[in-house]
Amino acid sequence: MPEHVQTVYGSNILESELAPLQPYVLVTMEMPWQVCKQRFSTIPPAHIARVNSLDVEKLDAVYEGLPDNVNIVGLGGGTALDSAKYFAYRRQRRPLLIPSITSSNGPFTDFISIRKNGGSFGFKVDGYPKKIVVDYDLIRLANPRYNRAGYGDLLYIQTTLNDWRIAGADSTEQPVDPSIEQRLISIMDSAFANAEEIGAGTDQGIRLLMEHTQESSGLYIDYPQYPISAGSEHLFAWNLELVTGKELIHGEMVSLGVVISSFLQRKYVKDSRYRELRQALDTAGVLYHPDEIGVGWDEIQQTLLTVEEYNQRVRKFHSVFGKTAWTPALFEELREYVVLRSPDVV
Ligand SMILES: [Zn+2]
Repeated sequence: MPEHVQTVYGSNILESELAPLQPYVLVTMEMPWQVCKQRFSTIPPAHIARVNSLDVEKLDAVYEGLPDNVNIVGLGGGTALDSAKYFAYRRQRRPLLIPSITSSNGPFTDFISIRKNGGSFGFKVDGYPKKIVVDYDLIRLANPRYNRAGYGDLLYIQTTLNDWRIAGADSTEQPVDPSIEQRLISIMDSAFANAEEIGAGTDQGIRLLMEHTQESSGLYIDYPQYPISAGSEHLFAWNLELVTGKELIHGEMVSLGVVISSFLQRKYVKDSRYRELRQALDTAGVLYHPDEIGVGWDEIQQTLLTVEEYNQRVRKFHSVFGKTAWTPALFEELREYVVLRSPDVV
């Protein structure tokens, strides 16, 4: 992993990491602050900068209110940590980033994902230094559902790789690079083997999930020429959000996308690992079943019918959806697998 990203892991390490940074500003959102504030009582922030969006105009307004000569500390998920990265960059400071949940690669990437007028306005600062503190006890303060969703989001690696294998064989995408493929497979092997540990939120499980998230985002940052940052599972999740207009948990939507995509991919690749994927989600206790996450089969069907149009308009990925002809028979087969949880399909 690049040396400019320093990650420290441990139990109850937060206070000793904060002490040398005083005075500091804490960039956070309401929910992580309410859940975690007890942990900031001995080394309190000089100022709390509350953010609620990555819109650059809103962020700049918050930035104007920051005191001078302070360190920048971020606490929360993707929005809070990207805001902290942005403020630290403007101040030319090295941010301390404290994930309150495991379900985001935000702390690790060099990309600062801010927005303007609803569109992406992000930028990448190669090699910008940052320190990340993963305090197991702090992360366990969050509802375990979020950390489990983070595990589901990690499983994108398999369905994204499957898409690449299919497109590589069709020559719509460059062929799969065997060394990258091997690294992706080894992350997946470990993710499968440790599903129970990660789902239980043990120290070791949290660490594995964070390390694998860091490793996978390191790969797509180092190899931007390969289609490994997201695939059909994320297309499904992004379009499901558009079609339903519901506020769903990202990692749970992706998990449902993983189940659906891997099921479709099994017809085109030798081993899409679809059985292992669903088993791993079940073992870790990730919510992904439509009834559990609050989406109807009609919404799923509508999402799938429009996903390729969405893809061509917005993302232009080569995914299994580009090869899929939606017939009533296929929808019925999929519904049995996804909704009725039929145990096995050939
Ligand atoms: Zn994701």
